Amino acid sequence: MSASPSVRPAPVARSMTLPPESLRLEGELPMAGAAVPFVEIEALRAREFIPAAKEALGSLISNRSRETLIGPVFNWAGRNSLFPLHWGLACCAIEFAAAFGARWDAERFGVVARSSPRQCDLMIVNGTVTWKVAHKLITLYEQMPEPKWVIAMGNCATGGGPFRTAYSVVPGVDKLVPVDVYIAGCPPRPEALLDGILTLEKLIRERKE
Ligand code: SF4
Repeated sequence: MSASPSVRPAPVARSMTLPPESLRLEGELPMAGAAVPFVEIEALRAREFIPAAKEALGSLISNRSRETLIGPVFNWAGRNSLFPLHWGLACCAIEFAAAFGARWDAERFGVVARSSPRQCDLMIVNGTVTWKVAHKLITLYEQMPEPKWVIAMGNCATGGGPFRTAYSVVPGVDKLVPVDVYIAGCPPRPEALLDGILTLEKLIRERKE
């Protein structure tokens, strides 16, 4: 005797009654007019609402918060707490030191010299750069964390200065590292260095990151 094929009983669809048209919000799911199976509503919700909510939340966290909150706060903190590398190359370094003394007091702008490149975000090249010291300068620059900036202080750092044609002198530190601000003078006074730092702060503010 052959067994009769079993037939799965049809699922009993639960249904819900929709609210009257006047109470429904515009843009609601297209189920006007009749009772809609509960399973269908659940499927629509899972297929459309949950991915949309996840996307909106992800975008809020990753894009809008970065643009509207995290970026500006980092930018504000970074430009008001520049940490230049504490070093000196030649006579311009005397003016660099004077800018951090009691009379000009660069620290009132939040500029605090640090002796380790790993704690610095600003390299002030304050003197003649020779080819002998060039690879050390590049190493120090690469040890600084991002974001980082460079100020070429004085004519020597900017373009070689009075030693431009010497065999041993680099004709401008921008041959080695990217320079953001150039300060003219031989040597520039401490006020000029402070003006260069304020110019750099303005550049960082305009980056809007
Ligand atoms: S620019 Fe003038 S003061 Fe500065 S390091 Fe060169 S020679 Fe010295």
